[in-house]
Amino acid sequence: MTVPQLETPQPITWSQPSHADVLHVVTPTSADAESFSSYAVAARFIPANTILSILHDSATPTSTVAYSSVQVSEKQSIELNSDFLFCNHSCDPSVVFDMTPEHMEVRSLRDIQKGEMITFFYPSTEWSMAQPFDCLCKSGKCIGRISGAKDIKKDVLERYWLTEHIRRLKKKQESEQS
Ligand SMILES: [Zn+2]
Repeated sequence: MTVPQLETPQPITWSQPSHADVLHVVTPTSADAESFSSYAVAARFIPANTILSILHDSATPTSTVAYSSVQVSEKQSIELNSDFLFCNHSCDPSVVFDMTPEHMEVRSLRDIQKGEMITFFYPSTEWSMAQPFDCLCKSGKCIGRISGAKDIKKDVLERYWLTEHIRRLKKKQESEQS
């Protein structure tokens, strides 16, 4: 996953393209572009409910949280180490990262046209983000500042597909506040 306004270039530690059958990475070069962040687009038409990638065969959960990691449980995250790092956040996402420590996969939420951005709702996996940012997704559903599920009201969060650990953490937060 990527966030806007990164201060340091991202080291690429895998051979690109990693998933050429499903996604392409686009790197804006025009000075007119709103953001210089690279992003992932669909390499072909992807029907709803398609598994884009199974991650659990190659990923090892650790306790390290970084801008490039995706949370798989209350205390563990994985590094994607693939072009899926370029799936940007959207408040109207096209894919979900279905994550538990044992089972991790990327699935399409709806039909995705060839060339359309592949995006996911970061707070669906992330409780507290290493690098909060102001969302520029321009969706009618945009919720603005993205800093993790901990800062989103329950009724807003419930509009989205969420991982089990985010559901558990929100429940815990609620019971501690009441
Ligand atoms: Zn947004």
